[in-house]
Amino acid sequence: MKKIFIVLIAFFAFQTQAFAQVKKTEKNKKAKITDSVKWRAQHYIVNRDSAYADPRIGLKKLQGGNRRFVEGKSIKPRQNYETIKKLENGQAPFAVIVGCSDSRVPNEMIFDQGLGDLFIIRTAGQVSAAASYGSMEFAVLKLKTKLIVVLGHTECGAVAAAVERPENVPGHIVTLINDIKHAAAKSSHLHGDPVNNAVRQNVIEQVNSLRDLDPILHKKYVDGEILIVGAVYDIHTGKVEFLEETLLNLPKPKAK
Ligand SMILES: [Zn+2]
Repeated sequence: MKKIFIVLIAFFAFQTQAFAQVKKTEKNKKAKITDSVKWRAQHYIVNRDSAYADPRIGLKKLQGGNRRFVEGKSIKPRQNYETIKKLENGQAPFAVIVGCSDSRVPNEMIFDQGLGDLFIIRTAGQVSAAASYGSMEFAVLKLKTKLIVVLGHTECGAVAAAVERPENVPGHIVTLINDIKHAAAKSSHLHGDPVNNAVRQNVIEQVNSLRDLDPILHKKYVDGEILIVGAVYDIHTGKVEFLEETLLNLPKPKAK
């Protein structure tokens, strides 16, 4: 009886050890994948300072972060006490995001970024007015941020309202509709979902109006000092699609 008891204890001890070993190996394997040069290259884990210095690298940093988010491999960078202390004397965000207020599009989460990375302006339908423009100009002039991303999203309620044009809209909501209705009308002849078509058109038009915005953004954009691009977040997949139409013929930085 005593012998059986000893054998049983030995068996359970071995099982526990083996289980711990498997867990350890899995953990090592996971660490190895994310540390590999290939994985890091595919997911654009670039130095934060390079992303701040060069908007094209900043753009890749956002694309890589979204890829990690979609694949369930978010690394949640710079989200700790150490970063709070590092930033207590100032900020240097590498991107301005002009996005929708929709609660399903939390910017730091979907781009897998952290404290001090993104300067965010959010209104429904990412409609901009004087205060939003001032915020962008502040980021560009004072914080030296060189990348502006207009981020729309599929199934946007504000855009849907501009497509449907309901009567007797209460309060200030009509401001949103008035700002988006042009994009909604312009995309109404397209095939496919009218709201999502209008979402894309709205982003493209908002990008164009920021590129034309005097006196600060327009000059910086044509001089190639800042990039202004557009993207759409898919609320079904979590994926951000940077719109090709806004990535073509970007002005190059002037030689100094
Ligand atoms: Zn929205």
